[in-house]
Amino acid sequence: MQTLTNELVFKNFINNKWVKSYSKEVSKSISPMNKDEVVGYIQNSTKEDLDQAVQAAYQAKKAWRKLGEVQRGQYLYKVANILEENLNDIAETMTKEMGKTLPEAKGETARGVAILRYYAGEGMRKNGDVIPSTDKDALMLTKRTPLGVVGVITPWNFPVAIPIWKIAPALVYGNTVVFKPATEAAVTAAKVVECFEKAGLPEGVLNFITGSGSVIGQGLVNHPLIDGITFTGSETVGQTVANSASSRGIKYQLELGGKNPVIITKDANLDEAVEAVISGAFRSTGQKCTATSRVIIEEEVYDSFKEKLIKETEKITVGNGLKEGVWMGPCASESQFNTVKKYIEIGKAEGATLLYGGEILTGEEYDKGYYIKPTIFEKVKPDMRIAQEEIFGPVIALIKAENLEKAIDIANDTKYGLSASIFTTNVASLLEFIDEIEAGLVRINAESAGVELQAPFGGMKSSSFGPREQGEAAKEFYTSIKTIFIKG
Ligand code: NDP
Repeated sequence: MQTLTNELVFKNFINNKWVKSYSKEVSKSISPMNKDEVVGYIQNSTKEDLDQAVQAAYQAKKAWRKLGEVQRGQYLYKVANILEENLNDIAETMTKEMGKTLPEAKGETARGVAILRYYAGEGMRKNGDVIPSTDKDALMLTKRTPLGVVGVITPWNFPVAIPIWKIAPALVYGNTVVFKPATEAAVTAAKVVECFEKAGLPEGVLNFITGSGSVIGQGLVNHPLIDGITFTGSETVGQTVANSASSRGIKYQLELGGKNPVIITKDANLDEAVEAVISGAFRSTGQKCTATSRVIIEEEVYDSFKEKLIKETEKITVGNGLKEGVWMGPCASESQFNTVKKYIEIGKAEGATLLYGGEILTGEEYDKGYYIKPTIFEKVKPDMRIAQEEIFGPVIALIKAENLEKAIDIANDTKYGLSASIFTTNVASLLEFIDEIEAGLVRINAESAGVELQAPFGGMKSSSFGPREQGEAAKEFYTSIKTIFIKG
């Protein structure tokens, strides 16, 4: 805990002012590339701070709703331009704060710009339907109306894109927002909020508050003036959010984990499959909810796929993501690092064979960071913990399958159902996969981890709950439908 005197302190943004917390306490945001480097200080806010933030959003909601979609969209265009002007600084902060390489951080920030422009345009698209009435003298229609005050709780793995893909639709559809970022990436999040500030949003429309998940996150879900909660993060916390939100009778949306499979059939283009598996599994150090974590291979091509995979994995350069030529950064935090190490030990103890990696990287470049080599296990049985539980790190499990049907059964044999991919050149195989796979994102001859901002995003089973995020689908969560009947 530090006192609140340092200029690197990122305050709360409430009613368009950056304000100090009642606690006057802050925590350090540490770089995972070098634990001696402090990226910034984050306030440990209190329930009183939270109440101010929610009250601000509550006071602002009527005027914001009445402003109109087109006008609300205009603000988002301005935010997009400001984010674009600050792209390099924000991306660099992201790399320092959570370790993603600079090219990936720039790509994510550019995605944030594109999402803002998409939802800015949404302000000019239709927000209802005309439905024929049995009464020929009446007009019947639907109109979408905002929820009110939405609480946004985000993780650290996409500290720009995830907050924006929640905040932008919330705002354009007429809600005001209280945003609580992940503590691990709160400095980056504060810089995103600065872009909204510079766009001149009316007071109280977007409020930002840092602090622990148990106090501020839980407090947000339980606050009586919150009308909806959108959450991305772990399954455990997601369950708590769901219980609290449903007991209050408010709308909620959860994006949780994945254990995403890639199936390689005997007729697949193996070079393309290897490239996609490496990208899906190891980019962002495997810390994507859509990251590839199980590779299920038909036995005829198992050995040749494995050989090619190792050869390409050996080329991965791990290090400080700000340096040119580095392809994979560290785990985002000490706790994530410990989780990954724990699962590597679990895999060995369960009897899987460590085919590649599995070591902590040491030496001058690595000793102060949380670096782990890309790791490949083989002889993994589908019921092992490393094939069932989300690791959220650069670790994959290779599983051999007798045929496509068995491969799909293995792929479906987890509680998750976020993303799944197949590499095949056989049309019948890909059609069977599309029908049988239990996943919200189904990818053919493409890595498991790609998403497009204009399409619905979300999973099946324990991976998601509630309406889909992104694209036009986002309006299902952020609005309610009024059915209007007008008698002439
Ligand atoms: P958490 O679920 O703990 O954190 C996600 C967000 O929820 C953060 O803003 C966190 O705040 C907040 N939070 C924590 N506790 C509560 C609570 N009781 N009520 C409301 N909000 C709360 O995820 P972790 O960061 O700890 O990551 C743990 C695991 O979760 C990962 O290893 C991975 O398996 C999974 N995960 C999945 C993600 C996905 O994209 N689906 C993203 C990130 C993680 P604070 O940061 O202050 O704790």
